[in-house]
This record gives sequence, structure tokens and C-alpha cells, in this order.
Amino acid sequence: MNAHDSERVAGLLEDAGYARAPEGDTPDLVVFNTCAVRENAADRLYGNLGHLLPAKKAHAGMQIAVGGCLAQMEREQITKRAPWVDVVYGTHNIGSLPKLLERARDRREAQIEFEETLATFPSLLPARRESPYSAWVSISVGCNNTCTFCIVPSLRGTERDRRPGDILEEIGQLVDQGVIEVTLLGQNVNSYGSEFGDRLAFGKLLRACGQIEGLERVRFTSPHPRDFTDDVIAAMAETPNVMPSLHMPLQSGSDPILRAMRRAYRRDRYLSILDNVRARLPHAAITTDIIVGFPGETEADFADTLDVVRRARFASAFTFQYSIRAGTPAAAMDGQVPRDVVQDRYERLVALIEQISTEENEKQDGTVVEVLVAEGEGRKDAATRRMSGRARDNRLVHFVPSAPAVDGSGPSPLTPRPGDIVTTRVTHGAPHHLIADGAPLDVRRTRAGDAWESRRDVATAAVNAAAGAASPQPGGASRPAPVLLGMPSRRG
Ligand code: SF4
Repeated sequence: MNAHDSERVAGLLEDAGYARAPEGDTPDLVVFNTCAVRENAADRLYGNLGHLLPAKKAHAGMQIAVGGCLAQMEREQITKRAPWVDVVYGTHNIGSLPKLLERARDRREAQIEFEETLATFPSLLPARRESPYSAWVSISVGCNNTCTFCIVPSLRGTERDRRPGDILEEIGQLVDQGVIEVTLLGQNVNSYGSEFGDRLAFGKLLRACGQIEGLERVRFTSPHPRDFTDDVIAAMAETPNVMPSLHMPLQSGSDPILRAMRRAYRRDRYLSILDNVRARLPHAAITTDIIVGFPGETEADFADTLDVVRRARFASAFTFQYSIRAGTPAAAMDGQVPRDVVQDRYERLVALIEQISTEENEKQDGTVVEVLVAEGEGRKDAATRRMSGRARDNRLVHFVPSAPAVDGSGPSPLTPRPGDIVTTRVTHGAPHHLIADGAPLDVRRTRAGDAWESRRDVATAAVNAAAGAASPQPGGASRPAPVLLGMPSRRG
């Protein structure tokens, strides 16, 4: 959700005349889009703001803005602790950012603005999409649940659903621009429709996505087990472009802890959803989130979590050590678990998940996977001469990109681009990824690959033009420089 909000912030600013700062340049504007979910978020924000102070002093007119959930939580505290911040804005008023920056410049004082309710649905704001082939599409914001460990409802408000027609129109426009994969986003994505009273709305939306020509992959995140109804499973199974992957937060495998977390499902219900999903989608990769050491968690409760993990056979899991979040009900609960106990349980949980994900990935050896080639997914790609992307079930695949020629006589000139689809055979399953070291069986050029290539060409032309603008112009005239946006690199 935050990554997509950042795309909205970048789009808004580009519309207002800002341009991305080239790597290494000191920008005129830095925007922090903060998250309050992770531990030490505030410390990290103030640390980053402190690092920026010398750059701000040395660069006249530089502005710093802070938005997102942590800004919503800290509010006036930010300009008290870091008085060099120019703008602080809340989760409900991203759209005000350009106006607030301008006002801060004019009045030479910090601008702080928070709306209690959503002024404009973020999807109505312009976006600068990071990827030309894969896009986030927000279908709802906020959450009506009250999980006792979670700060989100108090920062993002109650659930607001977007109209189905608006969502489908946005997806249609994205597909026209070359996008072939969308991920539907919501804090509680499958309770979509609760605002307008249609409990089946999410399944209907998935089926409607299946009707969009050119849309090859549909994903969604994150569903809540409570709202995971059979019609959603049927829609997943019966809509060919909905991918066989599911990320469904478990949080705990113990019923008393789920009750204390105020999660409205129990372990048996969770496992029965997985059974139903696997009955209809046998090859679905299922992933999850788990919190260890929630207040009151006993060794027996933790054993229940390990038991559910063993039965669920997750392809991977995000694991978290519980830590107090001020402002949440769990922060005031008795029975906070000592740090060393949490650490020990966490290590046992991670070891079990690694063992299961390795076994599950090893089962993929020899299977043929269809990979949507991605940019920036494989950190070692340059060294290993591989490329990376996601299989249909969302497993990360590192593959050798050379393709056979059409007549089988040698390497093909068809080198896949990000956005293209490569069909290849898995040669090794590792705990966190698959390797495919044989030549691809097929490389399919897509509109998304074309879109990636044309964006790359435009970016190269812009860099060249900027280099030209930096040189003296004929007659001594200089071109107006755009306002630069980004994070300055620290020098020296
Ligand atoms: Fe937070 Fe998710 Fe629970 Fe909503 S459903 S309160 S966003 S953890």
C-alpha cells in the first residue's frame, strides 16, 4: 500500500512540474513516505532526517516533506523534533502535498495538515508507476477490523471501497499502456464490498478482471481469513488470469491467541480454507504472515502455531517478533513475553519454515514454469548472468536467459526483456527461490516488454537531454532546470 502511495506522490509531483533527480545529484525536494508497522520506524525516520540536515543547510531552498502512517501518528512531533522539516501531511490528504510545499516556500514556515477522513480516494490522483508491466491497483483503503496488535485502523481509518467500474476502468487504462499484471490492493482486500453492502463483490471483481483482454495476471493482497468465502475460491479457480498464489496472514496457530488478537477465525477454519483452495487450485503456492511472542503466548500456544505451519506447508512466510506498538490494545496487555523467549521461538519457527519451503521448492525440480521477467528482482543477476522474475504461483525464479534459435541451431537473438514471458524448466529448488539453468523453452515478447523498452528509450533520451542542458547553450542562454526530487546521496 505504501509503495503504491509513493507512486501517487511521485505522479502528483511530476504533474506539478517536479522531475526525478538524477542519481548522485542533490535534490530540491525529499519526501519520506513512512510506515508505522515496523519496529523503530520513528527512530529510523528521525535518524534519516538528521542525516539530511547538512544537505539542507548546504542546498538553498531544499524542502523536506514527511507523509504516511508514521506522520499520521507523530503529527506535530515531527516539526518539534526536526524543525527543518517543511511539510507534514497525513494518510488522508496525499493530494495536498504540492499545495503544502508551495505554501511552505511562500510563508517560510512548516505546513502541517491532517484530514480526519479521506478527502480524495488516492486512486484518483495521478501516479508515476514504477513498473511498466506490473501495477498496483487500490480497491479499498482502511480497515473495519480491530486486531489488537495493529495500528492501521487508527491511522488509515475505516474501510472505504472504490466503485467496481472505476477499478475496472483504471485496469483497462493500465492494460492499454502495456501492463499485463495487476495486484489488487486493500488492507483487507477480500472484505471489498462491505461499504456498499455486497459480500460477494470481491469474487465478482476477480471474475470481471478475467474479462479484460490483454490482462494476463491478476493477484491480490492481503486477504483476511474471516472474509475468505467459497465464492472467492471459485472465482480464483474459474478465472484463468487469476494466479494460483495466495498470501493469507495466519498470525498465530493458537485459538486463545487468535482470540486475544481479535482475529475472527480459528485454526481449524484457517486450515479448512487452505484445504478448499488446494482442492480447487492444487498447485497454488500459499504464503503467510506470523507473529511470535504475542502477549500471553505460552509454549503450548506456540506449539499450536508450529503445528499449523507443518500442516499448511507454506511456500514461504513473513515472520515477526511481537513488539509493543504504542496506541494498540496489545501494548497494554498483561503477559508480555520476555525477549529471549520470543527470540528462541522465532528461531525455531524460522527453521521450520525454511525446512518446509525448501522441501516444497525442491518438489518444483523438473517442472516447467512461466516467468514474467522482472527488473531488479535478482540482486546477483549480473554476476550469475541470469535474469529473474515470478512464476505464475509467485515463486521467484532465477533463469538463464539465452533462448534456442527457432531451428534449434544456436542461441536465439530473442533476449527477454522485463515484461516478457519466459517458459523454462526448474533445475534446482532453493529455500527462497527456484533456479532454471537450462536454455528457456520459449521466450514470448509481450506488449509489456515493448512498454519497458520504450520507457527505457525515453529515460535514456532524457538523460542525454539533461546532459545537453547542463552544457552552455548557443548565445549564452541557459534552459530552465526542473526542480529535482529524490534522496540526496551522502558524499564524503
Ligand atoms: Fe490491521 Fe489487517 Fe487486522 Fe485490519 S485486518 S486491523 S489492517 S492486521
